Amino acid sequence: METIATLRRKFIDGSYTPLQAVEDAFAVIAQKDGEIHAFLDTYREDALVQAKDATKRYAEQGSDTPPLLGVPIALKNNILVKGKRATGGSKILEHYTATYDATVVRKLQEAGAIIVGATNLDEFAMGGSTENSAFGPTKNPVDTTRVPGGSSGGSAAAVAMGAVPAALGTDTGGSIRQPASYCGLVGYKPTYGAVSRSGLMAMGSSLDQAGPFAHTVSDAQLLHTVIAGRDPLDSTTIDEDTYPEVTLKETYTIGIPRDFIQEGVDEDVLEVFEEHVSALKAAGHTVRDVSLPLFEKGLAAYYVVMPAEVSSNLARYDGIRYGLSVEGDTLLDVYQKTRAVGFGEEVKRRILLGTYVLSAGYYDAYYGKAEAARELMRQELSDVFRIVDIVLLPTTPTPAFPFGAQSDPLSMYKQDIFTVPVNLTGVPALSIPAGTVCRDATNKPCGEQSQGTQLPVGVQYIAPHGGDTRLFDLGKKMHDQV
Ligand code: GLN
Repeated sequence: METIATLRRKFIDGSYTPLQAVEDAFAVIAQKDGEIHAFLDTYREDALVQAKDATKRYAEQGSDTPPLLGVPIALKNNILVKGKRATGGSKILEHYTATYDATVVRKLQEAGAIIVGATNLDEFAMGGSTENSAFGPTKNPVDTTRVPGGSSGGSAAAVAMGAVPAALGTDTGGSIRQPASYCGLVGYKPTYGAVSRSGLMAMGSSLDQAGPFAHTVSDAQLLHTVIAGRDPLDSTTIDEDTYPEVTLKETYTIGIPRDFIQEGVDEDVLEVFEEHVSALKAAGHTVRDVSLPLFEKGLAAYYVVMPAEVSSNLARYDGIRYGLSVEGDTLLDVYQKTRAVGFGEEVKRRILLGTYVLSAGYYDAYYGKAEAARELMRQELSDVFRIVDIVLLPTTPTPAFPFGAQSDPLSMYKQDIFTVPVNLTGVPALSIPAGTVCRDATNKPCGEQSQGTQLPVGVQYIAPHGGDTRLFDLGKKMHDQV
Protein backbone atom coordinates (compact mmCIF):
# COMPACT_ATOMS: atom_id res chain seq x y z
CA MET A 1 0.00 0.00 0.00
CA GLU A 2 1.08 3.58 -0.63
CA THR A 3 2.41 5.91 2.03
CA ILE A 4 0.10 7.79 4.39
CA ALA A 5 1.16 11.05 2.74
CA THR A 6 0.12 9.79 -0.72
CA LEU A 7 -3.14 8.32 0.55
CA ARG A 8 -4.00 11.58 2.25
CA ARG A 9 -3.28 13.59 -0.91
CA LYS A 10 -5.44 11.27 -3.02
CA PHE A 11 -8.26 11.22 -0.47
CA ILE A 12 -8.31 15.01 -0.57
CA ASP A 13 -8.25 15.32 -4.36
CA GLY A 14 -10.79 12.50 -4.65
CA SER A 15 -8.71 10.20 -6.91
CA TYR A 16 -8.86 7.44 -4.27
CA THR A 17 -11.17 7.01 -1.29
CA PRO A 18 -10.91 5.57 2.22
CA LEU A 19 -13.49 2.98 1.17
CA GLN A 20 -11.25 1.84 -1.70
CA ALA A 21 -8.21 1.86 0.62
CA VAL A 22 -9.94 -0.32 3.21
CA GLU A 23 -11.29 -2.66 0.55
CA ASP A 24 -7.76 -2.91 -0.89
CA ALA A 25 -6.34 -3.59 2.57
CA PHE A 26 -8.72 -6.52 3.01
CA ALA A 27 -8.03 -7.76 -0.51
CA VAL A 28 -4.31 -7.95 0.31
CA ILE A 29 -5.06 -9.68 3.62
CA ALA A 30 -7.33 -12.21 1.85
CA GLN A 31 -4.68 -12.86 -0.77
CA LYS A 32 -1.55 -13.01 1.38
CA ASP A 33 -2.28 -13.47 5.04
CA GLY A 34 -3.09 -17.18 4.77
CA GLU A 35 0.63 -17.64 4.22
CA ILE A 36 2.14 -14.66 6.08
CA HIS A 37 -0.06 -14.76 9.22
CA ALA A 38 0.55 -11.14 10.15
CA PHE A 39 -2.94 -10.79 11.64
CA LEU A 40 -4.54 -12.53 14.60
CA ASP A 41 -7.87 -10.75 14.07
CA THR A 42 -9.33 -8.40 11.47
CA TYR A 43 -12.17 -5.92 11.92
CA ARG A 44 -13.71 -5.84 8.46
CA GLU A 45 -17.27 -4.79 9.32
CA ASP A 46 -16.24 -1.94 11.63
CA ALA A 47 -13.56 -0.78 9.20
CA LEU A 48 -15.98 -0.63 6.27
CA VAL A 49 -18.50 1.43 8.24
CA GLN A 50 -15.76 3.89 9.23
CA ALA A 51 -14.38 3.96 5.69
CA LYS A 52 -17.77 4.91 4.24
CA ASP A 53 -18.08 7.70 6.76
CA ALA A 54 -14.52 8.91 6.08
CA THR A 55 -15.18 8.87 2.33
CA LYS A 56 -18.22 11.08 2.85
CA ARG A 57 -16.29 13.47 5.07
CA TYR A 58 -13.57 13.96 2.46
CA ALA A 59 -16.22 14.71 -0.17
CA GLU A 60 -17.73 17.34 2.12
CA GLN A 61 -14.71 18.81 3.91
CA GLY A 62 -11.62 18.00 1.82
CA SER A 63 -8.39 18.92 3.58
CA ASP A 64 -10.27 20.32 6.58
CA THR A 65 -10.28 16.83 8.13
CA PRO A 66 -8.14 15.09 10.78
CA PRO A 67 -4.64 14.05 9.56
CA LEU A 68 -5.20 10.28 9.49
CA LEU A 69 -8.81 10.28 8.33
CA GLY A 70 -9.50 7.07 6.43
CA VAL A 71 -5.96 5.69 6.76
CA PRO A 72 -5.92 1.92 7.47
CA ILE A 73 -3.67 1.04 10.42
CA ALA A 74 -2.80 -2.28 12.11
CA LEU A 75 -2.04 -2.67 15.82
CA LYS A 76 0.12 -5.15 17.66
CA ASN A 77 -2.17 -7.28 19.78
CA ASN A 78 -0.74 -6.13 23.11
CA ILE A 79 -2.45 -2.75 22.56
CA LEU A 80 -6.01 -2.65 23.90
CA VAL A 81 -8.95 -1.81 21.66
CA LYS A 82 -12.22 -1.73 23.58
CA GLY A 83 -14.47 -4.68 22.76
CA LYS A 84 -11.79 -6.50 20.75
CA ARG A 85 -9.76 -9.54 21.66
CA ALA A 86 -6.47 -8.66 23.35
CA THR A 87 -4.34 -11.81 23.37
CA GLY A 88 -0.81 -10.53 23.90
CA GLY A 89 0.13 -13.52 21.75
CA SER A 90 -0.58 -15.73 24.76
CA LYS A 91 -2.82 -18.69 25.36
CA ILE A 92 -3.61 -17.26 28.76
CA LEU A 93 -5.48 -14.36 27.08
CA GLU A 94 -6.78 -16.27 24.06
CA HIS A 95 -10.41 -15.36 24.84
CA TYR A 96 -9.84 -12.08 26.67
CA THR A 97 -11.67 -8.96 25.46
CA ALA A 98 -10.29 -5.48 26.19
CA THR A 99 -12.54 -3.34 28.40
CA TYR A 100 -11.07 0.02 27.39
CA ASP A 101 -9.04 1.70 24.66
CA ALA A 102 -5.32 2.32 25.04
CA THR A 103 -4.53 6.04 24.94
CA VAL A 104 -2.66 5.53 21.65
CA VAL A 105 -5.78 3.91 20.17
CA ARG A 106 -8.01 6.76 21.31
CA LYS A 107 -5.59 9.24 19.76
CA LEU A 108 -5.38 7.33 16.48
CA GLN A 109 -9.16 7.19 16.30
CA GLU A 110 -9.51 10.89 17.06
CA ALA A 111 -7.09 11.52 14.18
CA GLY A 112 -9.42 9.50 11.93
CA ALA A 113 -7.36 6.31 11.49
CA ILE A 114 -9.22 3.09 10.70
CA ILE A 115 -7.96 0.10 12.66
CA VAL A 116 -8.17 -2.88 10.35
CA GLY A 117 -6.87 -5.55 12.66
CA ALA A 118 -4.64 -6.90 15.40
CA THR A 119 -1.23 -8.31 14.57
CA ASN A 120 0.75 -11.28 15.77
CA LEU A 121 3.57 -11.03 18.31
CA ASP A 122 5.89 -13.05 20.49
CA GLU A 123 4.03 -13.94 23.68
CA PHE A 124 3.77 -10.77 25.80
CA ALA A 125 6.38 -9.21 23.49
CA MET A 126 9.14 -11.58 24.61
CA GLY A 127 11.20 -12.59 21.63
CA GLY A 128 12.77 -11.47 18.42
CA SER A 129 11.12 -13.61 15.75
CA THR A 130 7.37 -14.08 16.53
CA GLU A 131 8.19 -17.76 16.91
CA ASN A 132 7.12 -17.41 20.55
CA SER A 133 3.51 -16.54 19.65
CA ALA A 134 1.00 -19.06 21.05
CA PHE A 135 -0.82 -18.74 17.71
CA GLY A 136 2.00 -19.76 15.38
CA PRO A 137 4.72 -17.66 13.76
CA THR A 138 4.47 -14.87 11.19
CA LYS A 139 6.49 -15.14 7.98
CA ASN A 140 8.70 -12.42 6.55
CA PRO A 141 7.04 -11.13 3.34
CA VAL A 142 10.49 -10.49 1.84
CA ASP A 143 11.39 -14.19 2.16
CA THR A 144 8.79 -16.51 3.66
CA THR A 145 11.40 -19.03 4.82
CA ARG A 146 12.59 -16.39 7.29
CA VAL A 147 11.27 -14.73 10.42
CA PRO A 148 9.95 -11.15 10.21
CA GLY A 149 11.72 -10.35 13.49
CA GLY A 150 9.94 -9.64 16.70
CA SER A 151 8.36 -9.20 18.93
CA SER A 152 6.24 -6.89 16.74
CA GLY A 153 6.71 -9.19 13.73
CA GLY A 154 3.03 -9.16 12.76
CA SER A 155 2.91 -5.38 12.53
CA ALA A 156 6.09 -5.28 10.44
CA ALA A 157 4.78 -8.00 8.12
CA ALA A 158 1.38 -6.27 7.76
CA VAL A 159 3.14 -3.18 6.41
CA ALA A 160 5.76 -5.07 4.39
CA MET A 161 3.14 -7.25 2.65
CA GLY A 162 1.23 -4.13 1.62
CA ALA A 163 -1.93 -4.53 3.71
CA VAL A 164 -1.54 -1.21 5.52
CA PRO A 165 0.68 1.84 5.05
CA ALA A 166 1.68 1.82 8.72
CA ALA A 167 1.23 -0.05 11.98
CA LEU A 168 1.99 0.31 15.66
CA GLY A 169 4.29 -1.92 17.63
CA THR A 170 5.90 -1.79 21.05
CA ASP A 171 9.62 -1.74 21.80
CA THR A 172 11.07 -2.91 25.12
CA GLY A 173 14.48 -3.95 23.84
CA GLY A 174 14.22 -3.55 20.08
CA SER A 175 10.86 -5.00 19.09
CA ILE A 176 10.05 -2.22 16.64
CA ARG A 177 13.52 -1.49 15.27
CA GLN A 178 14.64 -5.09 14.74
CA PRO A 179 11.57 -6.25 12.73
CA ALA A 180 11.68 -2.96 10.79
CA SER A 181 15.27 -3.79 9.85
CA TYR A 182 14.39 -7.38 8.88
CA CYS A 183 11.41 -6.30 6.75
CA GLY A 184 12.92 -3.22 5.07
CA LEU A 185 10.85 -0.61 6.92
CA VAL A 186 11.26 2.50 9.01
CA GLY A 187 10.79 1.73 12.72
CA TYR A 188 10.79 4.15 15.59
CA LYS A 189 11.24 3.90 19.38
CA PRO A 190 10.41 7.24 21.05
CA THR A 191 12.01 8.90 24.07
CA TYR A 192 10.80 7.06 27.19
CA GLY A 193 7.65 8.82 28.37
CA ALA A 194 6.89 10.52 25.04
CA VAL A 195 4.02 8.07 24.39
CA SER A 196 1.48 6.88 26.94
CA ARG A 197 1.67 3.27 28.07
CA SER A 198 -1.92 3.28 29.28
CA GLY A 199 -3.63 0.31 27.65
CA LEU A 200 -0.42 -1.41 26.52
CA MET A 201 0.22 -4.78 28.13
CA ALA A 202 3.19 -4.13 30.37
CA MET A 203 6.36 -6.14 29.76
CA GLY A 204 9.16 -4.05 31.27
CA SER A 205 7.50 -0.87 32.46
CA SER A 206 10.69 1.18 32.64
CA LEU A 207 11.60 0.16 29.08
CA ASP A 208 8.33 -0.15 27.09
CA GLN A 209 7.29 2.40 24.47
CA ALA A 210 4.83 2.21 21.55
CA GLY A 211 5.87 3.41 18.13
CA PRO A 212 5.27 3.20 14.39
CA PHE A 213 6.31 1.05 11.44
CA ALA A 214 6.08 2.85 8.10
CA HIS A 215 7.64 3.11 4.66
CA THR A 216 8.88 6.66 5.17
CA VAL A 217 10.27 8.67 8.06
CA SER A 218 7.62 11.35 7.43
CA ASP A 219 4.85 8.81 7.90
CA ALA A 220 6.49 7.53 11.09
CA GLN A 221 6.79 11.09 12.36
CA LEU A 222 3.13 11.80 11.61
CA LEU A 223 1.99 8.72 13.51
CA HIS A 224 4.31 9.51 16.40
CA THR A 225 3.03 13.08 16.61
CA VAL A 226 -0.55 11.79 16.74
CA ILE A 227 0.07 9.28 19.56
CA ALA A 228 2.59 11.26 21.65
CA GLY A 229 1.91 13.59 24.56
CA ARG A 230 1.31 13.85 28.27
CA ASP A 231 -1.42 11.53 29.55
CA PRO A 232 -3.00 11.67 33.00
CA LEU A 233 -3.39 7.88 32.77
CA ASP A 234 0.41 7.36 32.62
CA SER A 235 2.35 9.42 35.13
CA THR A 236 5.66 8.71 33.37
CA THR A 237 4.58 10.65 30.27
CA ILE A 238 6.33 13.93 29.47
CA ASP A 239 5.41 17.10 27.62
CA GLU A 240 6.75 17.70 24.14
CA ASP A 241 8.83 20.66 25.34
CA THR A 242 10.46 18.80 28.23
CA TYR A 243 13.88 18.92 26.51
CA PRO A 244 14.05 22.33 24.76
CA GLU A 245 17.84 22.17 24.37
CA VAL A 246 17.69 19.54 21.61
CA THR A 247 17.77 21.57 18.41
CA LEU A 248 17.68 20.92 14.66
CA LYS A 249 20.67 21.69 12.45
CA GLU A 250 21.52 21.79 8.76
CA THR A 251 24.18 19.15 9.27
CA TYR A 252 24.87 16.96 12.28
CA THR A 253 27.88 15.52 14.03
CA ILE A 254 27.43 11.77 14.16
CA GLY A 255 29.32 9.51 16.55
CA ILE A 256 30.15 5.87 15.86
CA PRO A 257 31.18 3.62 18.75
CA ARG A 258 33.48 1.55 16.54
CA ASP A 259 34.80 -0.72 19.29
CA PHE A 260 31.26 -1.82 20.02
CA ILE A 261 30.45 -2.94 16.48
CA GLN A 262 33.56 -4.91 15.59
CA GLU A 263 32.53 -8.31 16.89
CA GLY A 264 29.65 -10.58 15.99
CA VAL A 265 28.36 -8.49 13.09
CA ASP A 266 28.07 -10.12 9.65
CA GLU A 267 30.71 -8.75 7.31
CA ASP A 268 28.28 -7.65 4.63
CA VAL A 269 26.02 -6.00 7.24
CA LEU A 270 29.08 -3.96 8.24
CA GLU A 271 29.64 -3.09 4.58
CA VAL A 272 26.09 -1.73 4.30
CA PHE A 273 26.74 0.22 7.49
CA GLU A 274 29.97 1.70 6.06
CA GLU A 275 28.15 2.66 2.86
CA HIS A 276 25.67 4.55 5.00
CA VAL A 277 28.51 6.30 6.80
CA SER A 278 29.87 7.40 3.41
CA ALA A 279 26.42 8.65 2.40
CA LEU A 280 26.21 10.69 5.60
CA LYS A 281 29.61 12.26 4.89
CA ALA A 282 28.65 12.94 1.28
CA ALA A 283 25.55 14.74 2.55
CA GLY A 284 27.79 17.08 4.56
CA HIS A 285 27.46 15.54 8.02
CA THR A 286 30.52 15.13 10.21
CA VAL A 287 31.33 11.61 11.35
CA ARG A 288 33.66 10.84 14.25
CA ASP A 289 34.49 7.97 16.53
CA VAL A 290 33.12 7.87 20.04
CA SER A 291 33.59 5.42 22.85
CA LEU A 292 30.70 3.79 24.70
CA PRO A 293 32.40 0.91 26.54
CA LEU A 294 29.44 0.29 28.84
CA PHE A 295 27.09 -0.34 25.93
CA GLU A 296 28.71 -3.76 25.75
CA LYS A 297 27.18 -4.49 29.13
CA GLY A 298 23.75 -3.55 27.83
CA LEU A 299 22.56 -7.08 27.11
CA ALA A 300 23.69 -8.31 30.52
CA ALA A 301 21.87 -5.50 32.30
CA TYR A 302 18.77 -5.85 30.09
CA TYR A 303 18.43 -9.57 30.81
CA VAL A 304 18.31 -8.77 34.53
CA VAL A 305 16.16 -5.61 34.57
CA MET A 306 13.64 -6.79 31.95
CA PRO A 307 12.88 -10.24 33.49
CA ALA A 308 12.61 -8.61 36.92
CA GLU A 309 9.90 -6.29 35.60
CA VAL A 310 8.32 -9.13 33.59
CA SER A 311 8.03 -11.31 36.69
CA SER A 312 6.21 -8.59 38.55
CA ASN A 313 4.04 -7.39 35.63
CA LEU A 314 2.88 -10.89 34.72
CA ALA A 315 1.82 -11.73 38.27
CA ARG A 316 -1.61 -10.36 37.35
CA TYR A 317 -2.32 -13.35 35.06
CA ASP A 318 -3.38 -15.58 37.90
CA GLY A 319 -6.48 -17.34 36.56
CA ILE A 320 -8.75 -15.04 38.52
CA ARG A 321 -8.48 -11.57 37.10
CA TYR A 322 -7.92 -12.06 33.37
CA GLY A 323 -8.53 -14.70 30.73
CA LEU A 324 -7.82 -18.39 31.21
CA SER A 325 -8.75 -20.04 34.48
CA VAL A 326 -8.01 -23.69 35.15
CA GLU A 327 -9.93 -25.29 38.01
CA GLY A 328 -8.05 -26.41 41.08
CA ASP A 329 -8.65 -27.67 44.62
CA THR A 330 -7.31 -24.52 46.26
CA LEU A 331 -6.68 -20.95 45.14
CA LEU A 332 -2.95 -21.66 44.91
CA ASP A 333 -3.75 -24.67 42.78
CA VAL A 334 -5.76 -22.45 40.39
CA TYR A 335 -2.85 -20.02 40.10
CA GLN A 336 -0.33 -22.75 39.44
CA LYS A 337 -2.38 -24.77 36.98
CA THR A 338 -3.49 -21.69 35.01
CA ARG A 339 0.02 -20.33 34.71
CA ALA A 340 1.47 -23.75 33.91
CA VAL A 341 -0.77 -24.26 30.88
CA GLY A 342 -1.33 -20.59 29.96
CA PHE A 343 2.26 -19.38 29.59
CA GLY A 344 4.76 -20.56 26.99
CA GLU A 345 8.37 -21.61 27.57
CA GLU A 346 10.04 -18.23 27.02
CA VAL A 347 7.63 -16.40 29.30
CA LYS A 348 8.19 -18.98 32.05
CA ARG A 349 11.95 -18.74 31.61
CA ARG A 350 11.84 -14.96 32.11
CA ILE A 351 9.46 -15.10 35.08
CA LEU A 352 11.81 -17.57 36.76
CA LEU A 353 14.86 -15.46 35.98
CA GLY A 354 13.12 -12.31 37.18
CA THR A 355 11.88 -13.86 40.40
CA TYR A 356 15.40 -15.10 41.08
CA VAL A 357 17.15 -11.76 40.55
CA LEU A 358 14.58 -10.03 42.75
CA SER A 359 14.75 -12.57 45.58
CA ALA A 360 16.04 -11.31 48.93
CA GLY A 361 19.41 -13.06 48.76
CA TYR A 362 20.24 -12.00 45.20
CA TYR A 363 18.62 -8.58 44.76
CA ASP A 364 21.80 -6.59 45.44
CA ALA A 365 24.02 -8.91 43.46
CA TYR A 366 21.90 -8.82 40.29
CA TYR A 367 19.06 -6.32 40.16
CA GLY A 368 20.91 -3.65 42.16
CA LYS A 369 24.02 -4.05 39.99
CA ALA A 370 22.05 -3.96 36.74
CA GLU A 371 20.30 -0.75 37.79
CA ALA A 372 23.67 0.76 38.74
CA ALA A 373 25.11 -0.25 35.35
CA ARG A 374 22.09 1.34 33.72
CA GLU A 375 22.73 4.64 35.46
CA LEU A 376 26.39 4.57 34.38
CA MET A 377 25.31 3.87 30.79
CA ARG A 378 23.05 6.93 30.93
CA GLN A 379 25.95 9.08 32.13
CA GLU A 380 28.31 7.67 29.53
CA LEU A 381 25.80 8.38 26.78
CA SER A 382 25.06 11.91 27.94
CA ASP A 383 28.81 12.63 27.95
CA VAL A 384 28.96 11.43 24.33
CA PHE A 385 26.00 13.67 23.46
CA ARG A 386 28.08 16.67 24.58
CA ILE A 387 30.30 16.11 21.56
CA VAL A 388 27.94 14.58 18.96
CA ASP A 389 24.31 15.14 17.96
CA ILE A 390 23.51 11.57 17.01
CA VAL A 391 24.99 8.13 17.62
CA LEU A 392 24.94 5.67 14.72
CA LEU A 393 24.76 1.88 15.10
CA PRO A 394 23.64 -1.04 12.95
CA THR A 395 20.11 -2.03 14.00
CA THR A 396 20.93 -5.75 14.08
CA PRO A 397 24.09 -7.82 13.60
CA THR A 398 22.51 -10.02 10.89
CA PRO A 399 19.64 -9.94 8.40
CA ALA A 400 16.42 -11.91 9.06
CA PHE A 401 17.23 -15.52 9.91
CA PRO A 402 15.44 -18.74 8.86
CA PHE A 403 12.80 -20.24 11.16
CA GLY A 404 14.36 -22.28 13.94
CA ALA A 405 17.87 -20.93 13.31
CA GLN A 406 18.10 -19.23 16.72
CA SER A 407 16.49 -21.94 18.79
CA ASP A 408 19.05 -21.42 21.56
CA PRO A 409 17.64 -18.53 23.64
CA LEU A 410 21.07 -16.99 24.19
CA SER A 411 21.82 -16.73 20.48
CA MET A 412 18.41 -15.08 19.98
CA TYR A 413 19.17 -12.60 22.79
CA LYS A 414 22.37 -11.56 20.99
CA GLN A 415 20.28 -10.12 18.15
CA ASP A 416 19.32 -7.35 20.58
CA ILE A 417 22.87 -6.18 21.28
CA PHE A 418 22.49 -2.84 19.46
CA THR A 419 18.91 -2.10 20.44
CA VAL A 420 18.67 -2.72 24.21
CA PRO A 421 21.06 0.06 25.34
CA VAL A 422 18.55 2.52 23.89
CA ASN A 423 15.71 1.24 26.08
CA LEU A 424 17.94 1.01 29.15
CA THR A 425 18.92 4.66 28.79
CA GLY A 426 15.46 5.85 27.68
CA VAL A 427 16.64 7.73 24.60
CA PRO A 428 14.86 7.70 21.20
CA ALA A 429 16.07 5.70 18.18
CA LEU A 430 15.07 5.43 14.55
CA SER A 431 15.85 2.47 12.30
CA ILE A 432 15.86 3.12 8.55
CA PRO A 433 16.53 0.67 5.71
CA ALA A 434 20.15 1.08 4.59
CA GLY A 435 20.64 -1.61 1.98
CA THR A 436 20.49 -5.35 1.41
CA VAL A 437 22.70 -8.39 1.86
CA CYS A 438 22.41 -11.69 0.02
CA ARG A 439 21.88 -15.07 1.71
CA ASP A 440 21.73 -18.45 -0.02
CA ALA A 441 19.50 -21.40 0.83
CA THR A 442 21.91 -22.51 3.58
CA ASN A 443 21.85 -19.01 5.11
CA LYS A 444 25.44 -18.29 4.02
CA PRO A 445 26.39 -15.07 2.24
CA CYS A 446 25.89 -15.64 -1.47
CA GLY A 447 29.13 -16.57 -3.22
CA GLU A 448 30.12 -15.99 -6.83
CA GLN A 449 28.10 -19.00 -7.91
CA SER A 450 25.34 -19.41 -5.37
CA GLN A 451 21.98 -17.78 -5.90
CA GLY A 452 20.17 -16.24 -3.00
CA THR A 453 17.73 -13.69 -1.68
CA GLN A 454 18.42 -10.02 -1.08
CA LEU A 455 17.49 -9.26 2.51
CA PRO A 456 17.08 -5.77 3.97
CA VAL A 457 19.21 -4.45 6.82
CA GLY A 458 18.78 -1.22 8.73
CA VAL A 459 20.89 1.34 10.52
CA GLN A 460 19.89 3.06 13.69
CA TYR A 461 20.14 6.72 14.66
CA ILE A 462 20.10 7.44 18.38
CA ALA A 463 19.49 10.92 19.83
CA PRO A 464 19.55 12.36 23.35
CA HIS A 465 16.35 12.41 25.44
CA GLY A 466 13.75 14.51 23.64
CA GLY A 467 15.70 14.39 20.36
CA ASP A 468 12.82 12.71 18.53
CA THR A 469 12.42 15.55 16.03
CA ARG A 470 16.17 15.56 15.35
CA LEU A 471 15.97 11.87 14.40
CA PHE A 472 13.06 12.52 12.06
CA ASP A 473 14.96 15.44 10.54
CA LEU A 474 18.07 13.41 9.74
CA GLY A 475 15.98 10.37 8.80
CA LYS A 476 13.99 12.36 6.26
CA LYS A 477 17.17 13.80 4.75
CA MET A 478 18.86 10.40 4.46
CA HIS A 479 15.89 8.14 3.64
CA ASP A 480 12.84 9.97 2.33
CA GLN A 481 14.68 12.30 -0.03
CA VAL A 482 16.80 9.75 -1.86
N1 GLN B 1 13.88 -9.24 21.55
C1 GLN B 1 13.86 -8.56 22.81
C2 GLN B 1 13.38 -9.49 23.89
O1 GLN B 1 13.15 -10.60 23.59
C3 GLN B 1 13.03 -7.33 22.73
C4 GLN B 1 11.60 -7.52 23.04
C5 GLN B 1 10.80 -6.26 22.94
O2 GLN B 1 11.32 -5.20 22.61
N2 GLN B 1 9.54 -6.37 23.29
O3 GLN B 1 13.27 -9.12 25.01
